[in-house]
Amino acid sequence: MEKAEKIWINGEVVPWDDATVHLVSNTLHYGFGVFEGIRCYKTDTGPAVFRLREHMVRLARSAEILGFSLPYTLDELVEGTREVIRANGFEQCYIRPLAYVGEGGMGLSYEDCPVSVAIAVWFWGEYVGKGTLENGSRARVSTYARHHINTNMSKAKACGNYMLFQMARTEARRDGYDEALLLDSNGHVAEGSVEHIFLVRDGALVTPPLTHLLDGITRNTVIVLARELGLEVREELFSRDHVLTSDEAFFVGTGAEVTPLVELDRRPIGSGKPGPVTKQIQEAYFTTVYGRSNRHADWLTYV
Ligand code: PMP
Repeated sequence: MEKAEKIWINGEVVPWDDATVHLVSNTLHYGFGVFEGIRCYKTDTGPAVFRLREHMVRLARSAEILGFSLPYTLDELVEGTREVIRANGFEQCYIRPLAYVGEGGMGLSYEDCPVSVAIAVWFWGEYVGKGTLENGSRARVSTYARHHINTNMSKAKACGNYMLFQMARTEARRDGYDEALLLDSNGHVAEGSVEHIFLVRDGALVTPPLTHLLDGITRNTVIVLARELGLEVREELFSRDHVLTSDEAFFVGTGAEVTPLVELDRRPIGSGKPGPVTKQIQEAYFTTVYGRSNRHADWLTYV
């Protein structure tokens, strides 16, 4: 990861190296914090953050789910993001807001600990790995199950939830795959380690319902764009065999953008190559995030 120059922390823009937390911060020990992953794209009219406000709303909701509130308003967080991107002079970057609980008590109750918010930005190209956007990703079904809805708060983008996703992704990569596909505790397909999954079946898109998943912003974007392209989109539970018998499949997420999923457990999905519907969705997505169409201009916040 390339270090940037500045970080926004509790309302101030400070040098990257000064943005530190104390060792006895509660979040560091228990994972009790929430974060976001957002992208800023280089458009013809300057850097623009994609669906910034929606990401900040999800950050606030994640905190609410865990039981604390953010000490900043949505407007302050939106402005803070713009400010830190400008301070670093980035035309394109990844944005990582983090709300964490600081020092004040090492017990599991966090009421006496202050809540801080930081917004870090850095350059991040293809999260999924070089060439994967074009050639597709190869996934394995993870040996780890997506959290049961009563185990963790699946709608919160909570720090501690990511231990599972890190384990799943690391397992997949050590085994020679690009990505993990997690099933839920009933065996239905849930999501990748940082992305949602779509199948293409007889020209229609199929994706699991949100019940036990993160409320994905890219997932929502893709549903809107697909319907505008005249494609049918259905939200339904399916099993791993359904993935194998699909015509095409793809992953979506802020980091992964729209990544073809061409193999599961070393078996090809459809032709084993990125398919035409996936490419159509990919094109619509990039047209939108790079501001090349005015249709969803309200999704872009210029820096
Ligand atoms: N699932 C998980 C577990 C994730 O971490 C992410 C990334 N935030 C996603 C799906 C995709 O969500 P989004 O499109 O909002 O980035």
